[in-house]
Amino acid sequence: MAFSGLQTVFATVAIVNCIKQFATGGNRMNESIFQACFRLFLYFGVWVVVVGFVYSQELVSGSRIGIAIHGGAGTILKENMSPEEEETYRAELREALLVGYEILKGGGSSLDAVEKAINILEDSPLFNAGKGAVFTNSGTNELDASIMDGKTLNAGAVAAVKHTKNPISLARLVMEKSPHVMLVGEGAAVFAEKLGMKPVPQEYFYTEKRWLQLQKIKAREKSVAPDKPVPRGSQSRTEKFGTVGVVALDQDGNLAAGTSTGGMTNKRFGRVGDSPIIGAGTYANNQTCAVSATGHGEYFIRGVIAYDVSALMQYGGLSLAEAADKVIREKLGAMGGSGGIIAIDREGNIAMPFNTAGMYRGYMDRNGKPVIRIYRD
Ligand code: ASP
Repeated sequence: MAFSGLQTVFATVAIVNCIKQFATGGNRMNESIFQACFRLFLYFGVWVVVVGFVYSQELVSGSRIGIAIHGGAGTILKENMSPEEEETYRAELREALLVGYEILKGGGSSLDAVEKAINILEDSPLFNAGKGAVFTNSGTNELDASIMDGKTLNAGAVAAVKHTKNPISLARLVMEKSPHVMLVGEGAAVFAEKLGMKPVPQEYFYTEKRWLQLQKIKAREKSVAPDKPVPRGSQSRTEKFGTVGVVALDQDGNLAAGTSTGGMTNKRFGRVGDSPIIGAGTYANNQTCAVSATGHGEYFIRGVIAYDVSALMQYGGLSLAEAADKVIREKLGAMGGSGGIIAIDREGNIAMPFNTAGMYRGYMDRNGKPVIRIYRD
């Protein structure tokens, strides 16, 4: 039997009156206590309904968004940085984070958030990506980048590009406008021009800080062993790190990851690191997580680090935090590699383990506030 709205109201009033009669026994004093309790009960009920409604809307629309960012890992120590310098880094990271977050909040895709946030860091001279890229042994700048869409498992990458202002945007074009995953050097430049991307001269990438870093390493090399190639890991760790990366989760539950870098100072012979290698420096899969790495690329390539985190979740049933910790603190460390990752899963959980002294990093907390960290704190 179906009740009309009015019948329901009458029935509810009758039931409440019965309970009232039973509870108060007609006593006036008891009646006012009953009314106060009843009002409290009513307020609590309304609160439960409102909170439940908001929460269910969140779940239905999948609107739990999230974003995390890194600006490189290495021997980043508080004693080596002035408060002003530290604040400049924090401000740049915060700006990039907010650009990405606003896109996600407005219903934009995780791919857009990743690309646009990375563009900000690529345009900054502070980070080893885009404008602030490090120098190769021959005094050039060769940039690498990759991006991955967790929904489709599509990916795009470029390596050793010399005239691209924003390599992450070119990587995205490779993913979306070519049948390939990775383009390198001259071929990537031709592809970029074909799609209307204006090339920049190599001078665009000149920054005094990076140039001096190269000179310092070269001088050290000469004094140690003038004729021999540099042994692995002999560079000062501050001189070789500074890559940028972003991972994001959008309102549709799609994950994306991107990484952009100038590689390692003094690199030779067309060396390419992990950043443009899907599975090593970048990986995203809606089933598991999105990952962007930074550190000594050779180890990240051999350890297939970014994919390993995803695989531990997919096949091993580990949580994001467990998988990320295992790969960075146990596996990478045991291999002798240094660096870190940022990662986000489809629930918006974030992990940022690293085994270096510091890692420029940040994320938006559950209240939409940016959190920026640099050191081990
Ligand atoms: N992973 C980058 C590379 O090896 C460097 C870095 O993250 O700083 O090219």
